[in-house]
Amino acid sequence: MKKLALHWKILIGMALGIIFGFIMNAVSGQQFVSDWIAPFGKIFINLLKLIAVPLILASLIKGISDLKDISKIKRMGLRTISIYIATTLVAIVIGLSIVNVVKPGTGMSETTIEKIKLKYENDAGVADKLQKASVQKDAGPLQALVDIFPSNIFKAMGEAKMLQIIFFALFMGICLLLIPEQKAKPMIDLFDSLNEIVMKMVDLIMLSAPYAVFALMANVIIAFDDTEILLKLLQYALCVVGGLILMIGFYLFLVTVFTKKSPMWFLKQISPAQLLAFSTSSSAATLPVTMERVEEHLGVDKEVSGFVLPVGATVNMDGTSLYQGIAAVFIMQVIWPEGLTFTNQIVIILTALLASIGSAAVPSAGMVMLVIVLESIGFPSDLLPIGLALIFAVDRPLDMCRTTVNVTGDATVSMIVAKSLDKLNDPKPREWDDHYEAVK
Ligand code: ASP
Repeated sequence: MKKLALHWKILIGMALGIIFGFIMNAVSGQQFVSDWIAPFGKIFINLLKLIAVPLILASLIKGISDLKDISKIKRMGLRTISIYIATTLVAIVIGLSIVNVVKPGTGMSETTIEKIKLKYENDAGVADKLQKASVQKDAGPLQALVDIFPSNIFKAMGEAKMLQIIFFALFMGICLLLIPEQKAKPMIDLFDSLNEIVMKMVDLIMLSAPYAVFALMANVIIAFDDTEILLKLLQYALCVVGGLILMIGFYLFLVTVFTKKSPMWFLKQISPAQLLAFSTSSSAATLPVTMERVEEHLGVDKEVSGFVLPVGATVNMDGTSLYQGIAAVFIMQVIWPEGLTFTNQIVIILTALLASIGSAAVPSAGMVMLVIVLESIGFPSDLLPIGLALIFAVDRPLDMCRTTVNVTGDATVSMIVAKSLDKLNDPKPREWDDHYEAVK
């Protein structure tokens, strides 16, 4: 019998998890899910995070040393960053256009606003986002730059500071090119081997993905308690989802035009990473799987994927910036219509771009940075908790959708950069048991 493709298994796991979550909601079994089901999802995410740091380090150092040419590194870096900025700008413009045309925030009744305000204004989740945003805001203007340079690489690895690890790996990769080849070889071989091992770990961890997504989805469903509020926010949520779907269409267009590959083929190959992004709401946790899919199933050379994907997971969040544009304007439409000026929307484009670079690749990070976007246009601070309360109820499902787009964007750009550097090859997928026979 033909084996069921991984993305189907994951989809089935997700569907069953959703159904199970609804059943548990109906029989008041939420506690059972959090005690006995959710931990399996957590274990899965922990395992993915566990391998993310060694994977970035190994693949980036090996990739850079394989390029054998510093000018090529420069070219790849410039191309990657420029395409990332361009796609993010497209995302924000799509978001702003939709929200200005559909105007989901006008016409929301006073009673609904009052109800949402009462329920979420003093919610711990909203307070947490505001507190995190104020920590970000209090830092000096160049703090983000300073934060790229680690003073202790082990601390950076321990805290999974992606940009610091990327900086260190680039620095080391370049220095490996600058020393005589025979001196560099043992280190390069070491990272090559580490890279192979971690990729095998991804294959093994993915065997449990269909079960893990069951747990993750069931846990998401039990958190939805007020469907009435969800329905009131439907128009806003549909604007975000519609924009995100347009973004996926834009990526497929880019893949077709620049790499001449079929869009359906691209989607099929990358789908396991998209489904995990959706289930985990974290581009960082999904990164190992994105790297595996892009290298082995899309055929992007390690030299390119090792750089483009970790950088993308950290700084390229098209879905997040599209969401921030829509959410900011939606909130203004509801509670601060006088702020809806053309200048403010231009400021939103710029700050949402920076916010997407500054957002951490973890659940809900986009909402924290939304506070900074709102503050940059002079949004009254006393209205901020109400603003966040307005969109809080649908944040999780939208986070799942925008993370899927974030990951798809990174994969798309890695294909385009690879093609432009002649580093896009025929894919060579590997299975977890390629060498199993010999050692079992
Ligand atoms: N959860 C998103 C990510 O990890 C970030 C966000 O939009 O909250 O890509």
